[in-house]
Amino acid sequence: MEQNRYSERKKSHSMGREKRRFVGGMEDLSKLYDKECDRKGNAIYIHIPFCSKICTFCSMRRELSPCNPEYADMIIRHIDKISETPFVKTCDIDAVYFGGGTPTSMEKKDLVRILEKLKSSFLLAPDCEITMETTLSELSPEKLKILMESGLNRLSAGIQTFSTRVRELLGRVGDGNFAVERMKEYIDTGLSDISMDIIYNYPGQTLEELQYDIGIMKTLDIAGFSLYSLISMENSLLSALHPEDMNINDDMERERLLFDTIAGEMRRDGYEFLEITKMVKPGRDSYRYIKARNTGKYTIPLGAGAGGEIMGGAVMNPIDIDQYGEFTHNPMKKMVPVMKDEYNKINKAVSSLQLLKVNPGDFPPDSVSDMEKLFKDLICEGYFNKEGNDYHLTDKGIFYGNNISMDLWNYFTGKEDSEKTQR
Ligand code: SF4
Repeated sequence: MEQNRYSERKKSHSMGREKRRFVGGMEDLSKLYDKECDRKGNAIYIHIPFCSKICTFCSMRRELSPCNPEYADMIIRHIDKISETPFVKTCDIDAVYFGGGTPTSMEKKDLVRILEKLKSSFLLAPDCEITMETTLSELSPEKLKILMESGLNRLSAGIQTFSTRVRELLGRVGDGNFAVERMKEYIDTGLSDISMDIIYNYPGQTLEELQYDIGIMKTLDIAGFSLYSLISMENSLLSALHPEDMNINDDMERERLLFDTIAGEMRRDGYEFLEITKMVKPGRDSYRYIKARNTGKYTIPLGAGAGGEIMGGAVMNPIDIDQYGEFTHNPMKKMVPVMKDEYNKINKAVSSLQLLKVNPGDFPPDSVSDMEKLFKDLICEGYFNKEGNDYHLTDKGIFYGNNISMDLWNYFTGKEDSEKTQR
């Protein structure tokens, strides 16, 4: 019987309110934009929170409505207001990520306007990764080609499954055949970096259904994919429709079997883990955005509800669309929390776990020996292997990666938790 210190699997590593204890003070955002950037390889995140249909399992920050026709103007106004600041003029950008919602729900002419504005306003690296999330129904191959002409070079397609039964269950538009054919059309555009999401551990899932999805992913030879275990949200439409099935997250053995099946099958096909929810074919999908977010780079947030960091200041744009529109007239007129250096150090060290390895020496000096002891225990229990000074997550460690991250944060916040790290 495998030794296991966790009785439930955490699906995120968000600190929530505990983060407040690391706030060192408040700062005028305009003063932060007045400073020259002191980090390389930064990112821009653009949030487009509109969806033409709400999926039954979804818990994202989005609205059920066509994209607001003024939304592109808001984002462009936001860019115009910050583009001449010392920070933006010295901030080199390695990755741009359009997330949602469904970014491609925006008209193609507006997406092109934003892409062109980004190129003329920011120091984008010549090979800057520019990613857009999409559903299959909101992006035709013709629209994709136009976006590629304006610089889009990475696509993240939210497919979830190729099974018609499950696509209906999850409220996805189009059946399984449509999903396969649409992916082939994307590949035929010549875009090499196409990633997709696959969901597992949904109500009633059989191993045959999982193997069916795996088989199609292999045939399509996509550059990479993200794998998500279904999070049963109490208030989701799915839980209302299938209350009897909402204990799926209690069966960790089943969830682990499904996870191991995906990891094992795809590894045999040449995929490797790049991040705890992401497998890629090496050299074909470097996913620079997630690396920037987990290695302490700055992220300039654009769009309603987008969050990021500017010169140590934690920035969150207004979530409400109208309020965001107002905000873009003067987007630097805002007080933002500035995190303590201690937080930045811990956050960088813990975040490295998302990228599969951790080094005790990266934590604050007075915690290093506790960290070494913890990671040695975790090696004995099968969560890590040690290579040099780094501790690398095993598949078991990847499966429980968010639990380990939360344990680390609990150590530093002193938070009592039933899953608390052994100190
Ligand atoms: S398309 Fe994506 S963001 Fe929109 S409802 Fe579906 S899962 Fe949520």
